[in-house]
Amino acid sequence: MRKPLLAANWKMNQTVAESLSWLAEFDRDAADVLDNQEVEAVFCPPFTALYPLRQAIVAHKMDILLGAQDLFWQEAGAFTGEISPVMLAECGVSHVICGHSERRTLLQESSEMISKKCGAAVAAGLVPILCVGETLSIREGGLTQEWLEAQLFESLSFWDGKSEIVVAYEPIWAIGTGQAATAADAEAACAIIRDNLREKGGSYADQVRILYGGSVTPQNAAELLSGSDVDGALVGGASLKAAAFAAICRAAFRENC
Ligand code: PEP
Repeated sequence: MRKPLLAANWKMNQTVAESLSWLAEFDRDAADVLDNQEVEAVFCPPFTALYPLRQAIVAHKMDILLGAQDLFWQEAGAFTGEISPVMLAECGVSHVICGHSERRTLLQESSEMISKKCGAAVAAGLVPILCVGETLSIREGGLTQEWLEAQLFESLSFWDGKSEIVVAYEPIWAIGTGQAATAADAEAACAIIRDNLREKGGSYADQVRILYGGSVTPQNAAELLSGSDVDGALVGGASLKAAAFAAICRAAFRENC
């Protein structure tokens, strides 16, 4: 049984003050769901908010995990503007998003770089949330499976087949567009991903959580999460409102019970 994981990706949004008030509201709204330990919520604020949020989580004994939106693969050195896995771990981060499509396209991150980032995360005791997903033209050309397999092959070269990872299926055409995949398409893509993970991880692939991401809302979450290979969601826009993200966590909880 895989515990659903709901990840909030705030992207470049929320000041420290806004993040702290989001946290307090989310804790009020979702405490009943999180207290019973049936679902896990990880939220990924901008780097500047990580440490203050960690302090608040510890001070209020909240059942909320902290994630980062990116990292660099070196521990320290002359890499202006980058942040190392060790620095994130020191802030209480447990998860880190690697290879989000915005970074792949806007910042030209290659799968080779992403694999290095994931490997550095694992080496520091962090769980990478590896994002993969196709463009609309790839989908319309009937090449989704080949695309996902190629992205996984390249981005997972770090993986030993047994260290904990999370994979997020994020079709690019669904991110921030309000046009989510159908539940059937999300399940089909997540099943392709799991089959692919089996080639390297054998039966351990059944323990890997695979998330769907792309225009998830409180309204469509239950349906999108109903697939047997969909183990949670990576949520962008809707996660900026604490009440909406709490409602998505609640939908995952109901779907899992
Ligand atoms: C994302 O940024 O990973 C994402 C899924 O965004 P949204 O939920 O806004 O589509």
